[in-house]
Amino acid sequence: MSSSSTSTSTPYLKEAHIAQLAVKRASILTQKICDEHLNNKGISKSDSSPVTIGDFGAQAIIINSILNNFKNDEVVGEEDSELIKKQEGLKDVIFKHVEYVQNVDFENSKILSDLKTSDELCESIDKGNSLGGKNGRIWALDPIDGTKGFLRGDQYAICLALMVDGIVQVGVIGCPNLPHDINDPNSKKGGLFTSVRGVGSFFQDLDQDLIYPFTNSEKIQLNNNADFNIARVVEGVEKGHSSHDLQSLIKQNLNIKSKSVNLDSQVKYCAVSKGDAEIYLRLPKDLKYREKIWDHAAGYLLIIEAGGVVSDIYGNDLDFGFGRTLNSQGVIASTKTLHAGIIKAIKSIIGENGEDLEKFT
Ligand code: AMP
Ligand code: MG
Repeated sequence: MSSSSTSTSTPYLKEAHIAQLAVKRASILTQKICDEHLNNKGISKSDSSPVTIGDFGAQAIIINSILNNFKNDEVVGEEDSELIKKQEGLKDVIFKHVEYVQNVDFENSKILSDLKTSDELCESIDKGNSLGGKNGRIWALDPIDGTKGFLRGDQYAICLALMVDGIVQVGVIGCPNLPHDINDPNSKKGGLFTSVRGVGSFFQDLDQDLIYPFTNSEKIQLNNNADFNIARVVEGVEKGHSSHDLQSLIKQNLNIKSKSVNLDSQVKYCAVSKGDAEIYLRLPKDLKYREKIWDHAAGYLLIIEAGGVVSDIYGNDLDFGFGRTLNSQGVIASTKTLHAGIIKAIKSIIGENGEDLEKFT
């Protein structure tokens, strides 16, 4: 193994480590629910959907773990507990799953702290109510990003990022179903992607013990040598979340030959960050839609620290200090070498200021 690239005094390393442990713990829960759902057992009809159980359980585990370690921090989480309180007995069902996970992961109970009751579980979920903004330490959490993929037993991700004064400093993404080699569906599944600003982006096997501090052997870099001729593109699966028509035109304009890979959730950022693809296109389908910060914060830093660029569709940087959403349209992530060419192609199709964007939404 090569020499250590971080030490315990590296800024935000403790935050990254706690975030990794919390995401790993939550992923035990989401995989259990996913397996039970796909095998059609364990979750009875009256228990509501597996998404509900997985989402709320994972959010409770992660917020509890983060706030136990960083008491004054805030969290922007996707969920609140109103829905589960409405359905008789549901919070107890979710709590039973959480208890199971806490028992499996007992070695980390001291550092993460366990939830003790279903009421504590609801309180934890509701601490994800920060409005975001450009002041202070705020975490962005998507407990299950890509719920449609989760239900299909396909790609989904558990995504957590720390922003300090609106700047993303740490990002962790757990991808329980992602093959280690995206081009070989039979390769081992489960990745944990971590980035720390100024330090780098790292990949580890989700099932292995954490390596702490990180070493250079886990460092990932995107592939800055590819030109458009050989560039590979990742796009979403859901046609309502991005304009596949406009994305096709952009690929034609750039003479991209390889067939896109469609993936749910922030695993698209993960694929680019480790050099399995060079471009992620997310052109808006709805002119008024503003992307949620929890859908992008962790993936954004992962790409930046792996040597790439992330912007809106006009090439502007993303502002994570605006609030619970970004104040911009779409996302383009790519290698440094290809980014300017992609933005040029987009503007040639939609107009310099997006005058023709409406045609594609
Ligand atoms: P993906 O798997 O890349 O399609 O992204 C999933 C995320 O898309 C979800 O977590 C939603 O928050 C988000 N989403 C929902 N509606 C839209 C929309 N109209 N445009 C873009 N993203 C959306
Ligand atoms: Mg999401």
